[in-house]
Amino acid sequence: MSPRQRVVVAGAGPVGLTVAIELGRRGLKPILLDPRREIAWSSRAICISRRSQEIFRRIGINEGFFDKALPWSSGKTFHRDHLVFQFQMPFSDADRFAPFVNIQQLYTERFLLDTLESLGADASEIRWGHAIQSVKQDDGGGVAIVSGPNGQYELAFDWLVAADGARSTVRASLGHALHGTSYEGRYVIADIKVEGAVWPVERHVWFDPVSNPQSTIIVHVQPEGIWRIDIQTNPSLEDNTVLGDAFLEPLIAQHLTVVMGITSPFEIIWRSIYRAHALSMDRYRDQRVLFAGDAAHLVPIFGVRGLNSGIDDAHNLAWKLAMVVQGRADQQLLDSYTEERRGATLENLGNAIKSTWFMSPPNLRFRILRDAVLCLAESKIWARELINPRQSSAHTYRASSVVTYDGDGGPAEPGAVIPSIRLPDGRYLHEVLATDRLTLLSISAEADTNAADVAASQGLHFVCVAPDSFDEASRPSCAFLLIRPDEHIAARLTSLNALGLKYAIDRALGRRPQKVASFVAVENVDQVVPYTPAEELFSHLAAESQLALPDVTVAMEVLLREMMSIEVESAHPPRREQIGDHPSPNKSNKGKSGAD
Ligand SMILES: Cc1cc2nc3c(=O)[nH]c(=O)nc-3n(C[C@H](O)[C@H](O)[C@H](O)COP(=O)(O)OP(=O)(O)OC[C@H]3O[C@@H](n4cnc5c(N)ncnc54)[C@H](O)[C@@H]3O)c2cc1C
Repeated sequence: MSPRQRVVVAGAGPVGLTVAIELGRRGLKPILLDPRREIAWSSRAICISRRSQEIFRRIGINEGFFDKALPWSSGKTFHRDHLVFQFQMPFSDADRFAPFVNIQQLYTERFLLDTLESLGADASEIRWGHAIQSVKQDDGGGVAIVSGPNGQYELAFDWLVAADGARSTVRASLGHALHGTSYEGRYVIADIKVEGAVWPVERHVWFDPVSNPQSTIIVHVQPEGIWRIDIQTNPSLEDNTVLGDAFLEPLIAQHLTVVMGITSPFEIIWRSIYRAHALSMDRYRDQRVLFAGDAAHLVPIFGVRGLNSGIDDAHNLAWKLAMVVQGRADQQLLDSYTEERRGATLENLGNAIKSTWFMSPPNLRFRILRDAVLCLAESKIWARELINPRQSSAHTYRASSVVTYDGDGGPAEPGAVIPSIRLPDGRYLHEVLATDRLTLLSISAEADTNAADVAASQGLHFVCVAPDSFDEASRPSCAFLLIRPDEHIAARLTSLNALGLKYAIDRALGRRPQKVASFVAVENVDQVVPYTPAEELFSHLAAESQLALPDVTVAMEVLLREMMSIEVESAHPPRREQIGDHPSPNKSNKGKSGAD
C-alpha cells in the first residue's frame, strides 16, 4: 500500500480542480486522480455565473480565463417569430464581474489546471490515468482501490473528496444514490463554428420557432466564433439519428438562415444529447468522504447551475476541510457542508424545475399551458414573469448550524456572501478578506484599534471599512461582521462583546453543535423555493386534471380567467399586517430576472 494521504480528490473536472487548488494553496498537498489522460475536448458548461467568477478570482485562476470569456447580461425570448420577452440583468462599470461570461468548459478546466500546476509540485500531485475502483472506510479514514497505468494499488486516505461526476464510482461503491426526478424531454446540443458572422453575446431562446415548429431552440455565443445551439428534439427519434449530420446539419442551417438571417457556412465541431435531471444525494458527507459537484447532485442545465453550483461546493468545502485537517476546527464543521450545500441544491432544483416547465414541459398539459402563456406574454405582466428565466445567485445559508442567524434579513444577512465592494484604495473587499481564518470586519469610518486588538487576540484577521463604501442597499446596519474564508457572513454583531464574539467564532468553526432545519426530501423541493402567485396558479392548473385543457385557445381563456385574481391583487396589494409575520413560503414573491 502506498503511504497514507491526508486528502485524495477523485476527479479532475472543474470541481475537483477547484478543490485541489484551494487545498493546495492551504498547504494540504492533495492527490488528484482522474482516469483521463488530459483535459478532454468537451464543451458542456458554457455560462459561468458572477459568483463563480468571484470564486475563480479569489482562488487566483489564471488571468487568461477572464481575457477569453465573453461577458453578457441580457436576453431575448421569442415565440414563433414574435419577441415576447427581454431582460437586462444589472451590470454597470461599478461591477467587477458580468452577470455571466460564456466560455467552453474545456477552457475553464484548462485554466484551472494551469492554475493548479502553477502552484508547484509541492502544492498537489496530479495522477492522470488513475481511476478509483472502490472505497472502504474505517473510523479514522479509508482505503481506495485505484487502477493506474501500472495496475491496481491501494491508496489510504484521511479524507476523500468525491468529485468524480454524475456516474460517481465513489458514490456507488459506498452504496449511496441520487434521489429526485429525471425528465423525458431531450435536447441535442451542438457547438458550431460559424465563418465571419456576428451575433450578439446574449441569451436567445425561440419557443416553437418557424425553423423547427414544436421545438425550443437556445443560442449562445462562445469565444473563437463558436456558437452553442440547443435544439429540443422529438423524443420518438433515436439518439444516433438526432446526432447524425443528416438530421442535424439541415436543422441548424434552417434556423440560422430562416430565423437568424445568417447565411455564412458553419461546421459542427461538438455535439451531445442532454436530458434534464433534478437529483441529489441525501447527505454530502459519509464519514471521511465528501461529495461535491455532479457526484452529489444533478441540476437541469436550464438554470446554468450545474458547474456553477459545483464551484460553490468546492469553495464551501475546501476551507472547512483545511481547518479540520489542520486541527483548527471541529469535524462538526464538515456536517455543515451538507446543510449548506444541499440547501443550495434544493434552491437550485426548485428554480430549475420551474424553468423546465417552459424549456422541457413534463407533459402535454404543461405544454399547452406553456404555449398559452407565451401567446399572452406580449399583453400580460404575469405571463412575462412566468417566462422570465430564473437567474442563479449565491445561496444564503440561513439553515446552517455554523451561522449565527438572527432572522432579520436585510443587508449583510448572516449566511449571505458579503458584496465585494470597491474600497477607497481601489481594491475589492473580497481581496482583503483572509482565506486561512475568519475575518472580523468593522463597519466604521474611524480606525478602531480596540477592535483590531480584540480580533488579534481571538486569532482573527481584521479589516475596517467605512459605511459609505457600501451603497445604500448593501450597507450593513451593524457594527461588526464575522466573515468566513468563503466570503459568507458567519454572524453580525452590534457591539464587540468578548463573549458574543467568542460564541460566534466557536459556532462558525463547528465547536458548538446546533440543531439545524429538518431534512427535506428532494421530491418536496417546492417547500423550499417560494412560488410567486403566478407560478402557484400555473402549477396548480398544470396539475389539476379535472379541468379540461384540450388546446391552447381554451388554456388561454382559463389562464385569463384564473390570473385575474393576481392582476387585482397586484393593483391593490394587501397591507403589510394582512400578510402576517409568517407568510406561506409558496406565497411570497421571490422572482428574479436572469438567465437560463
Ligand atoms: C450539454 C451540457 C451543458 C451544460 N451547460 C452548463 C452551463 O452552462 N453552466 C453550468 O453551470 N453547468 C452546465 N452543465 C453542467 C456541467 O457540465 C457539470 O455540472 C460539470 O461538469 C460538473 O463538474 P464536476 O467536476 O462535478 O464533474 P465532471 O465535469 O463530470 O468531472 C468529473 C471528473 O471525474 C473523473 N472521474 C470519473 N470517474 C472517476 C473515478 N472512478 N476516479 C477518479 N476520477 C473519476 C472524470 O474523468 C471527470 O474528469 C452542462 C452539462 C451538459 C451535459
